[in-house]
Amino acid sequence: MSDVREKDINRGYLGFIKSISSVSEGKKKRTLGSLLGIFRHLVGIALKVSAIPLLYLYGILLIIWTRCKFLFLKKHPLSPLHQKALHYIPEFISQYPMHLYPIIAKSLEMAFIKESIERITRDLRGGVVELAIGDGTFSSRIFSEKNRIVGFDLNPYSLIQVKKYAHVRQCVVADCLNPPIGAGGASLIVSNNFLHHVTNKEGTLKHWAAIARYALFNENTNYWAEGWLKPYVLKSIGFKWAAQKAADQIAARSLQTLWEKPQLGILVRQFYDIEREESFFHEKVFFLSSICSALLFCYGPPTPELQKRVMNGIFAPLTKKITYHLAKALIEYDAILKRDRDVFICWSLESKQLEQNVVGDGIKLICPDCRERLQGNQCVRCQRSFDEIMGMLFLLPKELTQEIPFREEKAQLLGEEHL
Ligand SMILES: [Zn+2]
Repeated sequence: MSDVREKDINRGYLGFIKSISSVSEGKKKRTLGSLLGIFRHLVGIALKVSAIPLLYLYGILLIIWTRCKFLFLKKHPLSPLHQKALHYIPEFISQYPMHLYPIIAKSLEMAFIKESIERITRDLRGGVVELAIGDGTFSSRIFSEKNRIVGFDLNPYSLIQVKKYAHVRQCVVADCLNPPIGAGGASLIVSNNFLHHVTNKEGTLKHWAAIARYALFNENTNYWAEGWLKPYVLKSIGFKWAAQKAADQIAARSLQTLWEKPQLGILVRQFYDIEREESFFHEKVFFLSSICSALLFCYGPPTPELQKRVMNGIFAPLTKKITYHLAKALIEYDAILKRDRDVFICWSLESKQLEQNVVGDGIKLICPDCRERLQGNQCVRCQRSFDEIMGMLFLLPKELTQEIPFREEKAQLLGEEHL
C-alpha cells in the first residue's frame, strides 16, 4: 500500500488518519509514566503559558506600529473585499484567539465567498457539494440552512463533526482528488483551503470541471511557505538558499505543494472561465501574523487547546479587544500593499466543459472504482456495497479503504473545532 501514499502529497493524511484509529490509552499513559516524560510535559506547559503575555505585548506593539504607519499616509481607501472582511473578524476570535493568520485569511475568504455564493446559488435548485469540508466550522459560516449541501472529506474523524450542521444533508467519506460524483452530477463545487494539499492539481481540476458547472475554491501561492518567520528573516538578511530550504521544509511538513501565482492562473484557465479572481494577504502581513503563530508554538490554523483555554478564560475581554484591533489593523495594512506577493487567491469559476446544472436537488454519486452509478449504496456494475457508519457514507476506492480504518469509539478524538 506504500505506493498509494507516494502518489500525491495529499496521501500524507493517510498516516494521520491511521494514527487516530490506532492511538491507545496505554501508550499515552506510558509516555507520561516516566519521570522524564512528566518533566518534559510540565516544561512544555510552562513555556506555552509564559509566551501568552508576550503575545499580548506583541499584539499591542503591532497595533501601535500600524497606526503610526497610517499617520504618514495621505489616503488609504480599502478595497471592497478588505472592507467586507472587517465585518467577519469577530466570528473567528474565539476559535483562533490571538492567532492572526487564520483570522485574516478566513475573514478575507469569507468576504469573497459570501458574495459569490449568493450570486451563484440564486438560480440553483440544489446540487451543491463541498469538497474537503473538514470539521465544518468554516462551512457553517458560509452556508445557510436553505443550501442543504453534501459534504465530502477523506478524514472520517473530521467529517463526523459536520453531521450536526443544519446546512449539511449528507456526509460522504471520499477521495476529493477524484470525487465519486458522475459527470455533470452536481451544480456547484466549493472547496476551501484544500488545493494546496494536492500535488496533482491538474488532474484534480480536470475531475472537478467535469462534475459541476460552477466552482468556488482558493489556493496558496509559494509565499505561504516563504512568509513564515524563519524563511522570511533568512531571506531578508540575504541567505536566500537557506531561506528556500526552510520554506521547502515548512511546505513539506504542512503537506503542501505550492506554485507561483502566474502558474496557478494558467492551470485554472485550462479548465475554467474565470468569473472573478481576488488575491490577498501579502507576504509581509503574513510574516507579521506568523510571529503570533510562533508564540503559540504552531504552524497552520489549528490553535493549541491549552493557550486557547487560557486566553478564552479569564483573559477573554482582553483577548477579544487585542485580537480584533490587531486583525483590523493588519487587514487595513494589507489593503494598501501591492498584490504581487500575495499568499492567497480565490476564484469564482465556470467550467469550460459543462453548461447545464444538475436537475433536481440531489447529486449523482457513483462507484469510486468503476465510476458506475449506485443503486442505494451498491454499485450496479461491480456489485460492491458501501457502508454507512454513524451517518457517513464511506465511498472510498478499494486501495484507500484499507488505509482508512474508522473506529467508532475514537469518533470524538479530534473534537468539534480542531481545524
Ligand atoms: Zn463499482
